[in-house]
Amino acid sequence: MRNYILRGTTFDGSIRVFTANTKEIYEYAKKLHNLSDFSAKEFGKMLTAGILMSATLKSDKDLLTISLKVDGEISGIVVTANSKQEIKGYVYEPQANGPLGDGSISVVKDLGLKEPIVSLGPIIDSDIEKTLNHFFETSEQVKTRFILSYDGGQFIQLMPGASEEAKAKFESGVNGEDIKIHEKLSVTFSCDCSREKALKAIIPLGKAELLDIIKIDGHINIHCHFCNSDYKFFEADVKTM
Ligand SMILES: [Zn+2]
Repeated sequence: MRNYILRGTTFDGSIRVFTANTKEIYEYAKKLHNLSDFSAKEFGKMLTAGILMSATLKSDKDLLTISLKVDGEISGIVVTANSKQEIKGYVYEPQANGPLGDGSISVVKDLGLKEPIVSLGPIIDSDIEKTLNHFFETSEQVKTRFILSYDGGQFIQLMPGASEEAKAKFESGVNGEDIKIHEKLSVTFSCDCSREKALKAIIPLGKAELLDIIKIDGHINIHCHFCNSDYKFFEADVKTM
């Protein structure tokens, strides 16, 4: 995938600007999850938002998860990104039509501390861009603005101590010629699931319980919602656990 984020600032450093191109990720995800046009576009916006926000993560192990739960047909969307700009996610109802509806957004940042940081907000006007802008306005100290599309977007933050001129520029919109690009980061849709992890997930059920399930169903199937992989375990797998 040739998608990327450009990390830049205005020349005086007072506004940081992340710009993402996510067209291929959108097309890949649409096919992977067999999404309707509506589900794909809403998912694309969430993937773009997740990728943009992942560029603010600092440490290798940091993880960011954005979830929507809504009363529209689509029901919900989840995306998870790490600091290497690897993103994955899924839509509750792949073949949904709009609108998004009302509901809530949650952002969970796992920064390797004792507890992850969880922030919540409402869905605004059935719109993901408006929802995220409202979320940042009410939950984060740094002034932030999203411009979001299903195949790309921009994430702009006014740094603390910015000049009046920078504040005015932030409000009126930053032009391309104001931005100095510092870094180009490549972005991928990828899942870190594996047969070993799937096995670890079922071990706590205990051998006897697992063998009972296999007796009835023939096997145990662990499905990964993020990438649609299936991991099948049979009697011999459980016996050698
Ligand atoms: Zn997976």
